Amino acid sequence: MSSNQVSFLDLIISHVQMEEELVGVFRAALRTAGFIGGKPVQDFENAFAKFCDVSRCVGVSSGTDALRFALMAAGVRPGEGVLTVPNTFIATTEAISQAGAHPEFVDVDEQTYNMDSEALREFLETKCDRDQVTGKPVSRRTARLITALVPVHLYGQTADMDSILSLAEAWNLIVVEDACQAHGAEYFSRNQNRWRRAGSMGKAAAFSFYPGKNLGACGEAGATITNDPNLAQRVRMLRDHGQAEKYYHDMEGYNGRLDAIQAGILRLKLDRLADWNRERREKAETYRDLLGDVDGLVLPFEPSWSRAVYHLYVVRVPDRQKLQQHLNEAGIGTGVHYPIPLHLQKAYRVLGYDKGDFPVTERVAANIVSLPMYPQLSRSQQEFVAQAVKECVGVAQLATADRC
Ligand SMILES: *Cc1c(COP(=O)(O)O)cnc(C)c1O
Repeated sequence: MSSNQVSFLDLIISHVQMEEELVGVFRAALRTAGFIGGKPVQDFENAFAKFCDVSRCVGVSSGTDALRFALMAAGVRPGEGVLTVPNTFIATTEAISQAGAHPEFVDVDEQTYNMDSEALREFLETKCDRDQVTGKPVSRRTARLITALVPVHLYGQTADMDSILSLAEAWNLIVVEDACQAHGAEYFSRNQNRWRRAGSMGKAAAFSFYPGKNLGACGEAGATITNDPNLAQRVRMLRDHGQAEKYYHDMEGYNGRLDAIQAGILRLKLDRLADWNRERREKAETYRDLLGDVDGLVLPFEPSWSRAVYHLYVVRVPDRQKLQQHLNEAGIGTGVHYPIPLHLQKAYRVLGYDKGDFPVTERVAANIVSLPMYPQLSRSQQEFVAQAVKECVGVAQLATADRC
């Protein structure tokens, strides 16, 4: 690739850098035929639990399974409602449905794009009745008992967990964090007066190690983390056909294991994750320096309580299509995460939502663009991206209108 082209994501550089180490993992598996479970999986689980500041980690086959198993193991039952946001990847709600439950949405905050705790409060106080037995909310719209809440730490930044956790406590809701985009992100809890890791604040949390995530496997992988040993044990059973001991099935489970080669690869990469996240934060700062004063361009907002790990670098512009086209012509890759809010997806017509139900999410979805972001992005590549953005957005627009 020439120096004046910038791909949206580069998954090759880091793998070439680590090639010998990574091949070593595969070779060791071949020589022991240790493909499923065993020490590589346990070693990774222990190290990742430590990284996330929790006591238990259970490696599974994907982030979707991690979230499904976490919800099931936390006690969500078929037929119940689970609250989340419409501004997320569909895996969040697929996991809820696959656990037998029904997703229900609250809107996001216009600055952070994550769950708006005021919208959550309003939903609970004005759109629900309190079940007298359990103290949990019953949605008036669906008449379903809502038992759990899934905040999503989207783009690498945590949701505002203090307010979410206190509302969850007041309404007796289980909180399972979707941390699939937030490996190592931190949240400053004003209640506890300390920084907390993404995934360590709820009853359990789900991580994805899809290759493009901040910590990615060379294939599919995920993990559920928790401080609850019983919950962890239930996830262990769910991922492995409901057995704790071979061929003694206490319940039906799934084939949702993490394989040993992926675990070995993840263990090696985990040692570099803190550096990679730091580099992502530096790139975010560089973008802010280069693009901070462009009229009409909204950069990511990082509240004082957040240390984001910039899984994605999402900006807002009045005319997204025009910017994407201009950057594409300049050889710069972009993405949109996500163009159609979940409540407006065909798959979720059955949920009965309409256009206008979640105005912030809908507004945001129409304007967002994700710019190139990865640890190895160079200063000159970022300058090239910034120059191209400026040609298309804001004050420079008039002078160079013909170029855009
Ligand atoms: C990636 C992702 C998932 C699902 O992870 P998979 O490993 O692809 O199953 C879930 N939620 C969010 C927010 C994600 O970004």
